[in-house]
Amino acid sequence: MQRNPTRPVRIGSVTIGGGQPVVIQSMCATKTVDILATAAQAEMLRKAGAGVVRIAVDSRRDAHALAEIRQRTDANLAVDLQENYRLAAEVAPYVNKLRYNPGHLYHHQPHLAWEDKVRYLADVAVRHGCALRVGVNCGSVDPALRQRFPANDTIGPMLASALAHCELLDRLGFTQYCVSLKDSDPHKVVEVNRRFAAQRPEVPLHLGVTEAGLPPEGIWKTRAALVPLLREGIGDTIRVSLTVPNDRKAEELEAARQILAEASVQAPGPADQPELPLLNIVSCPSCSRVENESFVELAEEIRRLTRYAAQVPLTIAVMGCRVNGPGETDDADLGVWCGPTTVNLKRGAVHLGTFRYEEILPRLRLELDRLIAERGGAP
Ligand code: SF4
Repeated sequence: MQRNPTRPVRIGSVTIGGGQPVVIQSMCATKTVDILATAAQAEMLRKAGAGVVRIAVDSRRDAHALAEIRQRTDANLAVDLQENYRLAAEVAPYVNKLRYNPGHLYHHQPHLAWEDKVRYLADVAVRHGCALRVGVNCGSVDPALRQRFPANDTIGPMLASALAHCELLDRLGFTQYCVSLKDSDPHKVVEVNRRFAAQRPEVPLHLGVTEAGLPPEGIWKTRAALVPLLREGIGDTIRVSLTVPNDRKAEELEAARQILAEASVQAPGPADQPELPLLNIVSCPSCSRVENESFVELAEEIRRLTRYAAQVPLTIAVMGCRVNGPGETDDADLGVWCGPTTVNLKRGAVHLGTFRYEEILPRLRLELDRLIAERGGAP
């Protein structure tokens, strides 16, 4: 594959960019505080081919666990920081990369400017020899930035966010960073990454479709976005985010390898794959933050329940936790996000209520039938 001339960014024993082969990644979905399970999953992913394994850290307990996990795996580790960016200093000695989400920086210490928070993260990264990932996500763009764009422009705020963070890191003299711009819509992933690469061709890109969902549809969506980008030379590291149980996590790596193999062949025309159903189920791959272990099963049950409406052009989002659930379901027609013992149901941005796990499916069916009726009748 001909590749964009990105600069090399070192993550432990692998380098992304700089003409190196595309690195495939995955993420642990075990509870980070469960040291043995997380170390075992990191090792399993490493052996299955993950050049980088990401682990979520949201608390001091997670940070302490990470120090132990580091002793038990040879994987190159990336830490996923969401709202609590200040944990960076505690985890950096044990990892090779820090991922932060620009859209979550405003939650803690709102009196501080985001620039100060990024300066802090860059300082920590320099002190500990870590790379950074500026991880922009469609469902969690900084609201202040979002307001500057028309409501129907979801790409503009993502791009502006990534570019602003790159400019600041450049001003700080920090170059060991990569960027990701993820959306659950493969077409938007293609567009936003193309536009970013046109403006910053030297910055390595981490590609992925966020919340691609259950296989095989999740693989088809990711393929639809990543194959064209990779064939254009865009992308230095990839992740296929699949909603699968923990013992099937290695499927993400197998799917990533297939995508790379397909992208390396300059075949004309679209990828040879079945048409996606018009009813689009967007579901997260789960991670340490998932609030109930039956989340993956719930996503599968929702797919089964909604098969009768497969040809209705609607989106149902199914998310595993309260960190990203509320925001990431806003753009869906119906949204479901899990709490420890209950499930939240939304219609667009409107919260319809909180239901027990055994109540949610009939209620979701009712709302889906209502939506279908409002939009002109039977599927
Ligand atoms: S929605 Fe929550 S549980 Fe799912 S991957 Fe994102 S942070 Fe993890």
